[in-house]
Amino acid sequence: MFELRTKLVAYTILVVLAVAGGMSTISIALDHRNSVAAFERKVTALASTLGEAVVESVYDLDIKLLRQQVTSVLTNNDAKTAFILDAEGQVLTDGTEENPFRGSLIADPFAERVLTEEIWITQHQGDRIVAAGPILLTEDYVLGFVYLDFSTAELNARMVRQILQTLILSALFVFVTSLIAIAVANQITRPINKLTDFAVSVKEGSSDRDVPNCGKGEVGRLAQSFSSMLENLDTSNQDLQKLAATLEERVRDRTQAAEESSKAKSEFLAAMSHEIRTPMNGVLGMASLLEETNLDVDQELFVRTISESGEALLVIINDILDFSKIEAGKIILDEEPFNLENLVQSILKLLSQRAFDKNLKLIMDYSPELSKILIGDEGRIRQIITNLVGNSEKFTLNGSIRVAVSRSSQDASLVEIAVCDTGIGIPDNKLEKIFEGFSQVNASSNRVFGGTGLGLAIASDLAELMGGDIQVRSEIGKGSTFTFRCPLEAVENSRMALHLTDEAPFELIYPELAQADSDLNTAPLKVLIADDNKTNRLVVQKMLKTAGTEVIFAQDGSEAVRHFVNHMPELVFMDISMPKLTGIEATKEIRSFEAENERIPCPIIALTAHAMEGDREKFLEQGFDGYLSKPVRKTDLLVVVDLWSKRRNTNQNIEYYSA
Ligand code: ADP
Repeated sequence: MFELRTKLVAYTILVVLAVAGGMSTISIALDHRNSVAAFERKVTALASTLGEAVVESVYDLDIKLLRQQVTSVLTNNDAKTAFILDAEGQVLTDGTEENPFRGSLIADPFAERVLTEEIWITQHQGDRIVAAGPILLTEDYVLGFVYLDFSTAELNARMVRQILQTLILSALFVFVTSLIAIAVANQITRPINKLTDFAVSVKEGSSDRDVPNCGKGEVGRLAQSFSSMLENLDTSNQDLQKLAATLEERVRDRTQAAEESSKAKSEFLAAMSHEIRTPMNGVLGMASLLEETNLDVDQELFVRTISESGEALLVIINDILDFSKIEAGKIILDEEPFNLENLVQSILKLLSQRAFDKNLKLIMDYSPELSKILIGDEGRIRQIITNLVGNSEKFTLNGSIRVAVSRSSQDASLVEIAVCDTGIGIPDNKLEKIFEGFSQVNASSNRVFGGTGLGLAIASDLAELMGGDIQVRSEIGKGSTFTFRCPLEAVENSRMALHLTDEAPFELIYPELAQADSDLNTAPLKVLIADDNKTNRLVVQKMLKTAGTEVIFAQDGSEAVRHFVNHMPELVFMDISMPKLTGIEATKEIRSFEAENERIPCPIIALTAHAMEGDREKFLEQGFDGYLSKPVRKTDLLVVVDLWSKRRNTNQNIEYYSA
C-alpha cells in the first residue's frame, strides 16, 4: 500500500493538473474564439471599405486603378485572394497584372448567394474566412461585387503556440507544486509517522510510555489521547493481573479444600468400610461355623438367613464403596491380558444356580472370530458382566438369558458383550434413568427383586472409564438387551496368550508345589493369628479347626512379634489395625528379625477389613505375602493355608538341597 505521504503528493498533483489543465483549456478556447470574431470583424470592415473605395474605378472600368487598389489590400492584409466582380458576377480583376480570371464567374455557392441577395456576408469556412458584398453606386444601384478570401492559418498557429506554452507552463507549475506538496506532506505526516512508530513499539511489547511530541494540532491531540489510553490500559492490566492472581489463589484454595474434602471422604469411607467389615466378619464367620453344627430345620433356616443377609449387606457396602470411588475419580484400571471366554464362562457358572432355581436357560455365544485373549481390567469387566447377567436373572421369570460376545460390527476396535433376556422389560421413559445412581424402574420392585439401584450406574461408569459404554433396548413383557461395548486389544501368538488359552494346570504354573505334593510333610502347620478382636480370633480359630493347624494367638502387634520369635510359626495371619504395634509395623520387625537371623521369610498374610482400592498392593509392598479382606470366607482361608503348607514342603526341600 502507498504511504500517506505519497498519497498526499499524488492527490495534490492530480488536483493541480486538473485545475490548471481545465483553466488553460477554457482560456485558450475563449481567446481563440475572440480572435476569430475580431478577425471576422476586421475582414468585413476591410471588404466594405474596399467596396466603397472602388466605386469610381468600377464605374469608370478603370481596371489599372482597380488592380492597384486590390493589390494594396492583398499586400497589407492577410487576404489570400481578392476579386472585384462586375454587376453580372464576372471577374474584373484579381489584383494581378496577368489577371487570369478576367471575365470568368466564381463557381461558389457563397458567391452565388451574394450575387443573388446583393447583401454583405462574412462566412467562416474551414481554415478561411470569406467576406463578400455589393459595390453600390446609389442605394439600389449595384455596380459590381467585392469578394475577399482570408486564411485563418495564422490564427490557428497562434492557438497551437498558446497550447504549447500552456503545456510547458503547466509542467513547470506541476513540478513546483510537487516540491511544495512533498514538503507540506512531510510536514503533515512526520508527527503521524512518529505516533505510528511509537504504537508499533508498544504493540511489540516495549514498556516505553513516553509518547513522542507530535505538535499541537490534531495529531498532537491524538498522541495525548493515545498516551492517556495507554495509561488506562496499564492500570487495567495491573488490575487484571491482580485479579488473576487472586483468582489463582482462590482456585488453589478451593482445589486444596476439595482435595482435602475428597481425602476426608475417602478416609471416612475407608473407616466405615473397616468398621462395618469387622463386625460382619464376626457375624458371617460365626454363622458359617454355626451351619456346621447339628441344627434342626428351623435353626438351619435362621442361620442361612443370617448368612444371606450378611452377604447381601456386603454386596451393598461394596456397591456404595465402588460408587463413591468412581465419583471421587479414584478407580485405576488394570491393563492385563486375560481370557474373556473363560471369564464369561466362569461368571455364568457362578450365576447358574439361580438360573437353575428359576428354570432359566443360560446360553453363551462366543464369536469364533473374536480372539479369546484380550488386554483389559478383568476384575472390572467381570463386575460389569456379573451385574448385567445378575439383573437379567433377577428380572426374568421364565425363558432364557443369552450372552453374546463378539467384535462390534460398527467399530472393529470394540468388543461387544450383549446380555439378552426374556424378562419383564423396561418402559421406554425409564431407559435413561436406570443408569443413574440409586434409580430403579419401580421402587416397589426393590422389595420383590432386591437391589440398591447402584449396579447399572457403577457398570456404566466403569464402561465409560474403559472408553466404552452400555446401551439398552427393551420391550415391556418381551425382554431387554444390555450391550456393553469397550475397546479391548487382542493378544495374538504371544506366550502369555498360549498360557492363558491353554488354562495351564495348577502344577504347571507352580511346578515346585506339584513336586512337593509327592513328599508331604504331615506335621500340623503352625499358624500365628494376630488380631485384637476376640470374635475375629475365634472365627479364624474355628475355621481352621479342620485344616490340620496348630494355632497361636496374639492380641496386639508387639505380642505378635514376641510370639513369632518364641514359637517360629510357619504362617502368620496379621490384622492391620492393632494396638501397640500395627500389623505393618509388626511385620517390619518380623522381617528384620528374619534378616538378622538369616531365616527364610515366613509367609505373612494381611487379614484385614481395609478393603479400599490399592490396599492390597500397599500391603504387598510392605512385606506381606498375601491379602485376605474381612469378612473372610472359610474357603478362602483354607485355600491360603493349603497353599502355604504345600509351599512349606517346597521350602524344606530347598533348604535340604541347599544344605
Ligand atoms: P438394582 O440393584 O436395583 O438391580 P441396577 O442399577 O442394576 O440396580 O438396575 C436398576 C434398575 O434397572 C433395576 O432396579 C430394574 O428396575 C431395571 N433393570 C435393570 N436390568 C433389567 C433387566 N434385565 N430387565 C428389567 N429391568 C432391569
